[in-house]
Amino acid sequence: MRGVIGVNRVCFALITDKKTRLYEQKSLSLNGVWTQWEEIALTSRRHDDSRHAGFRFAALRIVYKRANRFRRVGMIKTEKVLHLRSCRGRRVRVVREHYLREGVPCFSSLCQAGCANDGKLLPADLTHYLVPDAQVVLSFLEILELRELRGLVFTQTAAQALQSKGRRYYSRLRSLLRDRRHDCVLFANEFQAYSYCPREKGETQESWQTRCVYSAAVWYFNHLAGMMNVVMITEDEDAVARYSSLNSGVYVVSVQDYLQNFWPELQAAHDLYGSISQALQEKEAEGSQKEYSEHLPAEILEAGIKSGRYLQGSLAVSKHRAQSEAFLTPGSSSKSAATDLSGGVLVHGGRNRNRAVHGDAVAVELLPPSEWRGKVTALTEGQGEEKGGEDGERKPMPTGRVVGILQRNWRDYVVTFPSRDGSQSQSRSSQRILAVPWDRRIPKIRISTQQADALQDHRVVVRIDSWESTSLYPNGHSVRVLGRAGELETEVQTILVENCIHVPPFSDAQLRELPVSSPERPWTVAPEEAGRRRDLRRSHLVFSIDPAGCEDVDDALSVRSLDGGRLLELGVHIADVSHFVAEGSLTDLEARSRATTYYLADRRYDMLPPVLSGDLCSLLGGVNRYAMSVIWELDAESLAVRSVWFGRSLIRSSYQLSYEEAQALLEGRAPPPEGDTQLVPALETLTRVARHLRAQRDRGGALELEGVEVRAQLDQHRNISALVPRQPLEVHETVAECMIQANHWVARKVQEAFPSQALLRRHPPPRQELFGPLVDTARARGFTITTSTNKALAESLDRAVDPRDPLVNRMLRMMATQAMSQALYFSSGSESLDQFYHYGLALDRYTHFTSPIRRYADVVVHRLLSAALELDRDQAPDLDQDKALELDRDQDLDQGSPKLDRRALVRARAPASNKELEETAHHINSKNRAAQRAQQLSTSLFQCLYFRDRDPLTDPHCVADAVVYAIRDNGLLVFVPEYGVKGAVYLRNREGQVVAAAAADGRCEWQSGTVRRYADHITTTSSCGCCTFSLFDHVTVRISVLPSSCHANTLNLELISSRPPPGPGGPPPAGPPPGRGQAARQVVQEVVRLAEEAQQGAPSPPLPPEERPFLQSPPPNLHSLLEEIRELALLDPALLDLDGPRGQRSAQAQRAT
Ligand SMILES: [Zn+2]
Repeated sequence: MRGVIGVNRVCFALITDKKTRLYEQKSLSLNGVWTQWEEIALTSRRHDDSRHAGFRFAALRIVYKRANRFRRVGMIKTEKVLHLRSCRGRRVRVVREHYLREGVPCFSSLCQAGCANDGKLLPADLTHYLVPDAQVVLSFLEILELRELRGLVFTQTAAQALQSKGRRYYSRLRSLLRDRRHDCVLFANEFQAYSYCPREKGETQESWQTRCVYSAAVWYFNHLAGMMNVVMITEDEDAVARYSSLNSGVYVVSVQDYLQNFWPELQAAHDLYGSISQALQEKEAEGSQKEYSEHLPAEILEAGIKSGRYLQGSLAVSKHRAQSEAFLTPGSSSKSAATDLSGGVLVHGGRNRNRAVHGDAVAVELLPPSEWRGKVTALTEGQGEEKGGEDGERKPMPTGRVVGILQRNWRDYVVTFPSRDGSQSQSRSSQRILAVPWDRRIPKIRISTQQADALQDHRVVVRIDSWESTSLYPNGHSVRVLGRAGELETEVQTILVENCIHVPPFSDAQLRELPVSSPERPWTVAPEEAGRRRDLRRSHLVFSIDPAGCEDVDDALSVRSLDGGRLLELGVHIADVSHFVAEGSLTDLEARSRATTYYLADRRYDMLPPVLSGDLCSLLGGVNRYAMSVIWELDAESLAVRSVWFGRSLIRSSYQLSYEEAQALLEGRAPPPEGDTQLVPALETLTRVARHLRAQRDRGGALELEGVEVRAQLDQHRNISALVPRQPLEVHETVAECMIQANHWVARKVQEAFPSQALLRRHPPPRQELFGPLVDTARARGFTITTSTNKALAESLDRAVDPRDPLVNRMLRMMATQAMSQALYFSSGSESLDQFYHYGLALDRYTHFTSPIRRYADVVVHRLLSAALELDRDQAPDLDQDKALELDRDQDLDQGSPKLDRRALVRARAPASNKELEETAHHINSKNRAAQRAQQLSTSLFQCLYFRDRDPLTDPHCVADAVVYAIRDNGLLVFVPEYGVKGAVYLRNREGQVVAAAAADGRCEWQSGTVRRYADHITTTSSCGCCTFSLFDHVTVRISVLPSSCHANTLNLELISSRPPPGPGGPPPAGPPPGRGQAARQVVQEVVRLAEEAQQGAPSPPLPPEERPFLQSPPPNLHSLLEEIRELALLDPALLDLDGPRGQRSAQAQRAT
């Protein structure tokens, strides 16, 4: 039974195709735009199938309810005829009933008509509003995303057109509309009685859409009584001709004309326009020969996944064999009882990968076991270090092919335009270039451009537009040019783009929100704010301990004796960032999207604008500052905590000490400040308390992982120019311990107040099997490492010390760190209580509270703590219960309960729901991983730049001591302590020759021979005899740069002697690790100097001037820096390569605190 039937004014088209689910998703995800309910009805096309009866009923209910609602508010009914095409190609005529209203909000602050405008409003201080045509939104959304363009009105017509293009595009528009930093609104023009125009007979869809949008533009001009000009942009030349002179005040122009006339300076927009329109032209001229098989439609994929025929998961391409190997880690919902897929599924070769790109969510079909293959595990020459684990034979593993894409996860990619030899060039107007992405896992991208010559050897940001089955490569367009490959600034920008780190200059609108603090108008404490805070300025001696020259002080301390010496009071005072950064403000949104301050080897990008991070929030000496304080009362004898107070305070720090000053005061090497008798005793007490707290945690099993102590070396601009190892000072530990305690107690407080809506940080225990390499390596040296608990691990690591070679302990700790899981933020409602444990710190609950200037998580926790304190106030015995009851009713939570319902109150008072908080945690976790990767990449960038201009054969800097820490089939993995470099050393080359060492002096050369690998050593045999390399052997390597024009350069390590290098100090080094910091400092300094010299000859500055100030913002506090660096210094870069499923599991960045 097919045809069109009427059901109470709702017309159904009953079609018998398989589009049910597609329609369902489309219609239900509309989020507030009242439209397309007919399609919901459409989806009940199988009217005779009883299984669908329930759904049909639900769909009808929605239709009725909406229709009734709109009828009530007085609407005009009209009809709208749609021609939909079913998936079998049958055309279906659908008559939509369409209700029009007069009161559709305009969202303009100029509105005089009393529209029900709530939410984001278009400002009045603009020269015009911009209304893009549907086709413009479809093709040029990226240009409209530029924040410079303001006053944008997206029409419902355009939004619907975009929605039919795909979910990815539509959700981009939705996030634009939601984001307050973008000045744009959605106008429901098709429901507005005076702007709606029905489609005329014979009118094409496109020209009808253009007419609708024009009519909307005219409506705006009239609705705002001509107070605001309206510019409509369209790519339809006829429309420009037809409409441009119809109404004064409403201008219709092409996109190009608009940009040229209104934004001549906005180069980004012009570049985008050029590259997108080029790509569009190319697309029309596509060939039709199939290169790949078609992807299956969504509903078939879904059914296949449900039945277990297909597996779904995210595709991870191998970094070292990007052409041939990719892996799928099946998601939890994938079920395949027959095969063990825990090791992942191999997707071998380009055909089987079928246009899936690294990171895409895909559906994979397993091949029959006869077609399974193994993955390659030997060291690949020139590809750097191989991932951990055992190598071995190529054992076949489950192998499959991609049958469909569930979700594209394309981002911006940096590519290099190849050098041109002339043979590639086609016609002058359109040149198709195969650009090579910087990330080896991404396929080459075809770009059409007129600038191919100008851009050769340049790094360019591109986006992929599509990848048709007829095209060997994906098509894309360029977004912006970063600069010439190999230059410092280009390479740093590349690292940022590749890690999705977006750090534009802080906008004017954002800076206008902030309080002013200038010499003419100094910021002062507001009296009413002072009245609300606990004033510690007279009662407490507050001081801060930071690295010398620190300007953003986010923590300060106080300690004093109470009750005649029977009690001790310890205070930790943290910058009150949440006082200045209101939730939802532009500053808050920007800080949230950055999530952290980014530290690169030579610079940093702050999370907060300088007026906050370096001034108003910073707890500087001698000035009044707002703080969030945690104050404990301890028993003076036992140091047991008697009570704790949390709250907002007003402090004035008396001393801003450096670590060295504080340590000198403690040791009596420096005289106390004149006239002060309190400071030194306070420091002593603090040290005693911290030792006690630390010992308590040690008994619980806290881990001391690799103890690299570093110091930030500053240049004249106060940039960190190097990280230098230092003699550890006890005062570091003391400050760190106080911060750990504050974080711990705040975690307890917020978790108790909001059991399922608190942001905490957990550190899961490591998986035992990952300790394998550590245990085996230690055994090779005669040590036993026990990994059953964190306490056992910590103790056995402490014992594993070789008095002859301190590097042994350091490397074992490095390996322990590698086995660690990653510490993560989470919402307390999403994990069970036993998952809260922090393994590294041995604490049952932990969070981040002490660095709100540079971590967004801490800002969230500050807000939680304030909410918890308010909750306490409201639940005090003398509480005004009516208020709580009122709240209860408002929230419609627990009806009928006259009593104060605590749970309802808690829910109402929590700053965010569990779900929202879990999203926030997820976002911050991913930004932290990006920050770590960027920092590491920038370190290796500097290492490569340092070695690039040295001659490895003559320069003594290129020869260094290295220690063997792992054995592979055809080589060694070594660590070069002097430069902190890790890498592979090959014992067999491409010609099959092996390394042979002279018995007399250990000098190595290539000889024909064989290599044999054992558990803890590897032997080469040649005409010169045998040569054995064991774990922890010291050898001499020569470091050189393997240049790459399209990717990052890498360091190449070559074995030149089987013995350590001779030299002062002699092998093996005694005492602390030798001169690593010295060299590391030289590396960064020299590279920066060279880059600056190179820039002096260059025509333009490396960065726009407005970006300068915050590149050169003050250095971070050492404690926080230590926290980051300690973890980063240990990281094995190879672990970050998501190389297959094993790699994914162990690719854990170590953030132990
Ligand atoms: Zn209005």
